[in-house]
Amino acid sequence: MNAWKKTAVLALMSASVLMAKPQVTILATGGTIAGSGESSVKSSYSAGAVTVDKLLAAVPAINDLATIKGEQISSIGSQEMTGKVWLKLAKRVNELLAQKETEAVIITHGTDTMEETAFFLNLTVKSQKPVVLVGAMRSGSSMSADGPMNLYNAVNVAINKASTNKGVVIVMNDEIHAAREATKLNTTAVNAFASPNTGKIGTVYYGKVEYFTQSVRPHTLASEFDISKIEELPRVDILYAHPDDTDVLVNAALQAGAKGIIHAGMGNGNPFPLTQNALEKAAKSGVVVARSSRVGSGSTTQEAEVDDKKLGFVATESLNPQKARVLLMLALTKTSDREAIQKIFSTY
Ligand code: GLU
Repeated sequence: MNAWKKTAVLALMSASVLMAKPQVTILATGGTIAGSGESSVKSSYSAGAVTVDKLLAAVPAINDLATIKGEQISSIGSQEMTGKVWLKLAKRVNELLAQKETEAVIITHGTDTMEETAFFLNLTVKSQKPVVLVGAMRSGSSMSADGPMNLYNAVNVAINKASTNKGVVIVMNDEIHAAREATKLNTTAVNAFASPNTGKIGTVYYGKVEYFTQSVRPHTLASEFDISKIEELPRVDILYAHPDDTDVLVNAALQAGAKGIIHAGMGNGNPFPLTQNALEKAAKSGVVVARSSRVGSGSTTQEAEVDDKKLGFVATESLNPQKARVLLMLALTKTSDREAIQKIFSTY
């Protein structure tokens, strides 16, 4: 080959490298983003009715950004989410991200339990590559459906270099939230997600990504949790406190074989006295009792009205009850020692 031809071939090769689109896999689990209803102006619809291929075909603009592959993990409303699906999802995300060619994974998900799935993956994915959860509050057949723009924005976040090593993120309503901090705060509004203790970590506006900050807790590669050989997660129940509370649900949880109890306490994680006695007994019998709060923001602190050390409890600090449940399930795969689990809550 003469020098001129060589230069032309090299130029063509580098142009194709420059033009090569990033490869992104979208794992679909169901939810409203894959929902379909009979009317564009009525609220009733079925979550998870639309397959991943149809979901992707509805947002053709994402194909200009990346080479997209779709896989169906489940077709459920996320109120049907289970530990089994979390394990399957985490294992598949790890497999995909270990492949050199996969640059990011996006998970389409119902919004009801998106925060728990995101936090579970935040603690179990072993990669710095971007992992983005996205959903919708209005089904695809609804007027002003939010799913298509949310998905377009999610792909933009996933392929953005600044998303590397941010931990798992949630993209909804033009906002980027860290998995550890995000929670669903509104049952129906398109701005349903917020991070009450820290605020959003960035925004994505018609695909333009801007980060302001990031989560400071360990995640992904820095997390000690490894689910690669785990087939089942330990049972952890959440009990919601109220005036006139009883010991009935504590005893029911114990009878059902719970290894851990998250108590969604009043205020700074306070139980009703009768309930507290039952929880103390449970803790002393070896079940891990973790105090969280039904308040929605702030921390359930170790030293206030409840003497955790004396009663054998753990304080979940700034994790809400549903996120505390995820962390306790993972913690129990390693230990059931109170001190060690308190340290885990103070770390993650
Ligand atoms: N309950 C359904 C779910 O979480 C619909 C809620 C939604 O996706 O917005 O999958």
